[in-house]
Amino acid sequence: MSKVTKEEYAGMAGNFIHDIIDDDLKTGKHTEIITRFPPEPNGYLHIGHAKSICLNFGTALKYGGKCNLRYDDTNPVKEDMEYIKSIEEDVRWLGFEWTERLWASNYFDTMYEAAIALIKQGKAFVCELTPEQIKEYRGTLTEAGKESPYRNRSIEENLDLFERMKAGEFEDGSICLRAKIDMSSPNINMRDPIIYRVVHAPHHNTGDKWCIYPMYDFAHPIEDAIEGITHSICTLEFEDHRPLYDWVVREVGFWPNPPRQIEFARLNITTMVMSKRFLKRLVDEGKVEGWDDPRLSTLAGVRRRGYTPEALRKFCNDIGVSKADSTLDIAQLEQCVREDLQDKVPARNVVMNPIKVIIDNYPEGQLEDVTVENHGKIPEMGKRTVPFGRELWIDGDDFMEVPAKKYFRLYPGNEVRFKGAYFITCNEVVKNEDGSIKELHCTYDPATANGGEGCERKVKGTIHFVEASTAVKVKVREYSYLLKENEEGVMEYDPESLKEKWAYAEPSIKDAEAGERFQFFRKGYYIADSKLTTDDEKVFNCIVGLKSSWK
Ligand code: ATP
Ligand code: MG
Repeated sequence: MSKVTKEEYAGMAGNFIHDIIDDDLKTGKHTEIITRFPPEPNGYLHIGHAKSICLNFGTALKYGGKCNLRYDDTNPVKEDMEYIKSIEEDVRWLGFEWTERLWASNYFDTMYEAAIALIKQGKAFVCELTPEQIKEYRGTLTEAGKESPYRNRSIEENLDLFERMKAGEFEDGSICLRAKIDMSSPNINMRDPIIYRVVHAPHHNTGDKWCIYPMYDFAHPIEDAIEGITHSICTLEFEDHRPLYDWVVREVGFWPNPPRQIEFARLNITTMVMSKRFLKRLVDEGKVEGWDDPRLSTLAGVRRRGYTPEALRKFCNDIGVSKADSTLDIAQLEQCVREDLQDKVPARNVVMNPIKVIIDNYPEGQLEDVTVENHGKIPEMGKRTVPFGRELWIDGDDFMEVPAKKYFRLYPGNEVRFKGAYFITCNEVVKNEDGSIKELHCTYDPATANGGEGCERKVKGTIHFVEASTAVKVKVREYSYLLKENEEGVMEYDPESLKEKWAYAEPSIKDAEAGERFQFFRKGYYIADSKLTTDDEKVFNCIVGLKSSWK
């Protein structure tokens, strides 16, 4: 795995968050920058998370600081080691290493003490309104809320009730602890928000120790403050929660130099499902092959698809950090992948929708090795040989019985170069009874060896081929987008988004290892699928086509 270097991020393009950091360093507010990436372990990470990872870890690298991986496990959800394992694998695959790996649930004691401290200052109260009443009392965007009748209990009574909440005397939802802030605040988040609730459920980390659990808005600032996070970077939907974040760290008051929350716009990409909840549904409903289905936006999926961490990091850097929501064109991501692969990946001859070619004047039973380059533009990538013989396969796209305008590949009467081999002329098309092409009868010019090297006569088209007797049948998986616009213009799951077909490949493909990438000559970039490829059968995912639709 390629680890990110400090150098890569030393040159990271600045953004408004880095402007804030530069300021904080200049004024001496901070001398070391500490960030964190705080996933909830309830699913696999997706490309949106990659954006947050690159920003948080990249910022720490740029400023020589630290970045923690912190599991946001304040919900007493069932421990899912699968998710935790996948998160760590994904962060490392992207090239990053955390300073510390931490669990929000390790701070439950401090959070409890913080709640007690608030109660003692008269800034929190135990409320017995039902969830429906709390909602009703909360008011709306245009109407102020109404104060809870329990709001003015004495500190002693609050302490006693909170203690009894902790001791398990109350049912889930029957009682909660609320911050006492301002029911008439224009910001609904400030209208006496719930900070602790009763949930009788064991926690994967703390077991049965607690039956009260802190709410996210109370827990998160405390987690950040405990870890000395200087800049707590989150997505825009938390902007309205920032006053509460600030209120918590200020009123709890344990920390002299509290963290600062900064929001940026979530990454959205056309045709991509970018929410763990929806991804989970696709997985649970069996619409995809699992969290690592190559059509998914999950990092496990794009990894299997053949995207590289370098391409993802470049994409995340190129798109910058913004304060305004937008949706990026998937073509921009694909272009990053293509640009990353174009100088790295060797070519192989593979033909799809094959058409049989018979070279009538080539001796029967004879085979010869012809030499081809592994990369058209990078001679250092070396050469290899492929067999040539009397019977060959060519790609369905490389022949037209009636050529279109400016079609320079094979058609009856035309001569083309078979890459690395000879000039070949098509003389006759033989059909099956159903009208489909059975085979093409051709002749070769023995004076044009090595692809016509040094030959005076020129041909316009060059095509590739696979010798028939040594061809290896491989399975190729072509993907379109998982989401497709239906007639009403709504994005919908497209069951046709995966198409499998057989192709013929040159014999060297037998050595392809799972995870190895190639350019299938003139077709696109492909990777030997890490799950389905065996010694006996090679299965390739199309990573991305050769041509860009990105403007
Ligand atoms: P989802 O909506 O997919 O469940 P989430 O925000 O609930 O995502 P978390 O595990 O809470 O997922 O996210 C961890 C971090 O990743 C958070 O800081 C969150 O803001 C960030 N993040 C999640 N989705 C995106 C996205 N699309 N773009 C940028 N950052 C994101
Ligand atoms: Mg979340």
